[in-house]
Amino acid sequence: MDANATTPLLPEVVEAMRPFWLEAFGNASSIHQQGQHARAAVDHAREAVARLLNCRAAEVVFTSGGTESDNLALFGLLAQGDHLITSSIEHHAVLHAAEALAERGIEVTFLPCTAQGTMEVAALQATLKSNTRLVSVMLANNETGAIQPVRDLADAAHAAGALFHTDAVQAAGKLPLDVKALGCDLLSLSGHKMYAPQGTGALYVKRGVRLRPMFFGGLHERGRRPGTENVAGIVGLGKSAELAREWLAGDAANGPGARSPEALARLRDRLEQGILAEVEQAGVNSGGAPRVANTSNLYFDHVEAEALVIALDLKGLAVSGGSACQSGATEPSHVLTAMGLSEARARASIRLSLTRLTTEDEVDRAVALVPAAVARLRELSPKHKQLLAVIS
Ligand code: PLP
Repeated sequence: MDANATTPLLPEVVEAMRPFWLEAFGNASSIHQQGQHARAAVDHAREAVARLLNCRAAEVVFTSGGTESDNLALFGLLAQGDHLITSSIEHHAVLHAAEALAERGIEVTFLPCTAQGTMEVAALQATLKSNTRLVSVMLANNETGAIQPVRDLADAAHAAGALFHTDAVQAAGKLPLDVKALGCDLLSLSGHKMYAPQGTGALYVKRGVRLRPMFFGGLHERGRRPGTENVAGIVGLGKSAELAREWLAGDAANGPGARSPEALARLRDRLEQGILAEVEQAGVNSGGAPRVANTSNLYFDHVEAEALVIALDLKGLAVSGGSACQSGATEPSHVLTAMGLSEARARASIRLSLTRLTTEDEVDRAVALVPAAVARLRELSPKHKQLLAVIS
């Protein structure tokens, strides 16, 4: 139950990719037949991603993943003297990029969030200035699943003459991603959060928005991202975009046992209610916010999340404490602390995130395992004893 860290490849995705490693392994820039075949596959995938986003194929730039897409959006647009507004609950791919830009003379504002982990339009409006070039706010938070009011934020940015970027990495394949309805100028995607391979991704760049490339080389991706295309990976991303559209429309199974978006939300609610019925001094972080259907962030007071993650892992249940990308860090989650959680409660929180293929049996197993592990760790309080007990 750690789908927000990464998802499995769907079998259809693997099957679509397979030929491009074996018999059809051309370089998409070669003019011979193998090259043209690879080029056609890349074009086909670009169209599939464009259909998912309701944009033109030429507006899709393939990248190596969410981190690169976020960096390309920010570094590609901002120059000294510009003002960037972003949120304090962004993924580190945006937060750390913003910090690096600040060191290069870009003025950066990090907006606070509400106690539910959502952004307020009024807070953005109060911060916009004549030199604000870009506003970057994620669509769904990776830790809590909270969905941000992107359309209203984008409208406010545009009214002040700024461009709007959204990191939609945790929304892709979970929510409809129509760039026109969202009103964004740039949007980041990552393949491995939507059943395509790790190391694949895309950035939507609205026609007319000029980006400086981060790398220098050939003229691939219309000069916006040089480097030989990862043809098999791009094909996988295209296939996963097709499957995401079908899944969101509710008209395809996406593999045996796949849940519809509504059924997945019901499964997540069953997970939360089942666990919370058995545990006191516990609750849902961002429980009052609109959330993507697969994500649940729970706190269990007087429990060390790291110890709980290890205890559950030993029982065969993979969950995450804070976000996986920062595991190993000793700091409590910046998202939960930005929401105003105490350090202790932030350190007592775990994230469970379901895939389209998660079954009722798996949920019921988690509903049995989590309360038992929490009860055992609470018996062992204080916290350092909990950690020692599970790792020794
Ligand atoms: N943005 C968000 C919201 C994420 O959750 C992640 C990964 O966890 C990323 C960006 C980075 O994406 P990638 O792992 O493809 O570099």
